[in-house]
Amino acid sequence: MQPPFEPTLLFAQQKDREDELHSFRSRFFIPALPSPASDRPDSPTPDLAVSPFPTSRDSIYFCGNSLGLQPRQAADFIRQELEDWQQLAIGGYLHAKNPWLTYAQPLRQPLARMLGCLESEVTVMNALTVNLHLLLLSFYRPQSSSSLSPSAHLQSPRYKILMEAGAFPSDQYAVETQTRWHGYDPNDAIIEIAPREGEKTLREEDILQAIDQHKDQLALVLFGGINYYTGQLFDMAAITAAAHRAGALAGFDLAHVTGNVPLQLHDWNVDFAVWCSYKYLNGGPGAVGGAYLHERHAHNKHMIRLGGWWGNEESTRFRMEKGFLPKPNAEGWAMSTAQVFNMVCLKASLTLFEEAGIDRLRAKSIQLTTYLQSLLETLDNKKISFNIITPPEPHRRGAQLSLYFEEQGKEIHRQMTAAGIIVDYREPGVIRVAPAPLYNSFEEVFRFYHILRQFQ
Ligand SMILES: *Cc1c(COP(=O)(O)O)cnc(C)c1O
Repeated sequence: MQPPFEPTLLFAQQKDREDELHSFRSRFFIPALPSPASDRPDSPTPDLAVSPFPTSRDSIYFCGNSLGLQPRQAADFIRQELEDWQQLAIGGYLHAKNPWLTYAQPLRQPLARMLGCLESEVTVMNALTVNLHLLLLSFYRPQSSSSLSPSAHLQSPRYKILMEAGAFPSDQYAVETQTRWHGYDPNDAIIEIAPREGEKTLREEDILQAIDQHKDQLALVLFGGINYYTGQLFDMAAITAAAHRAGALAGFDLAHVTGNVPLQLHDWNVDFAVWCSYKYLNGGPGAVGGAYLHERHAHNKHMIRLGGWWGNEESTRFRMEKGFLPKPNAEGWAMSTAQVFNMVCLKASLTLFEEAGIDRLRAKSIQLTTYLQSLLETLDNKKISFNIITPPEPHRRGAQLSLYFEEQGKEIHRQMTAAGIIVDYREPGVIRVAPAPLYNSFEEVFRFYHILRQFQ
């Protein structure tokens, strides 16, 4: 936020008037406030009637990092597929308004724009953890060679995976079980780098130094693009370059990045990435996941993988013959029939991203989160004591701020919930607050601060 920012409702409302993306808010369903405190006498809800926002019936939804809101047009998109199924049945594969055979196709271009890669490097399929496993089968091959060259075979000492300590549990389990699958002891095969004593986030130089230190044994560097707990955004270009210098590959889990921060995966030479579509992408609970492979892998038909008919060339898929012929792009990693109903809400949401533009969204996001940070830093309420552990520099974070409570975190979270603020609590001690630029406003950021000021 360019100073001076002001801790006033008028200032926030002025920012909303100047915001060219403000109208996108009306294209989402915003959850309503909980029913008034008078219905629940034990609730400590601040009296909303005397707040400066007597007319707002919307809760403050800062949880788009966990589950994005529903685009209003999603229902129409679903209805279209139900109708085509009703009327065309099997004919829908070719003759639906959006033919199911190629249903994933139009989703790839908008994703490629956000991720900074070629359309041929992106696919949507399965779900995040499944995709992580599938790509690890191609990219973590300790028995052969991480260079993926057939000649550098056997006795390769490269079998270690370097990752952030405290990665999202599903990623930890995936990597642990992959190393076991290959016959290694995870305690030996996984190198975790943790923040320094007394610090909460990783220093970039420590990551690069650790990669270099393990260069003789490293097969893969696998990081979350943004750490789900601290909100720290990593320098994926630098990490990838360091991994490659060390003779290893670099992959990222972009669950908290896609739809939040624009990337340049192709130019950064990132080998592979996976993500889910129900967080910032608003694809709905359990929505289809996504995967990226750099073209040097995606276009390589000889790259080892597990195949299924949907990854096979369409021209021969329906001949039902022997011999897997993968598509020469990221779709060559797909296995099963397009999961239309898992993609349909993502399709609805991506049209909004296309209209808004990821760069404009990021610019607004930086302003929203900086405003939030500025307000929280001026918060003068002795009842609430926390530190913001997310890096203060906008280029080292996305939309989310993580508020660390030495004590009382759960209780404060309970009070926030009762006051109509929807955020989540993550052990140990963190309340994550993530204003999403597609539907959150400066006024909501101010309301959040205003409510916190009244806590007792
Ligand atoms: C949300 C999230 C997941 C969830 O994985 P699913 O397979 O979609 O359940 C995994 N990893 C990270 C880093 C996440 O943030």
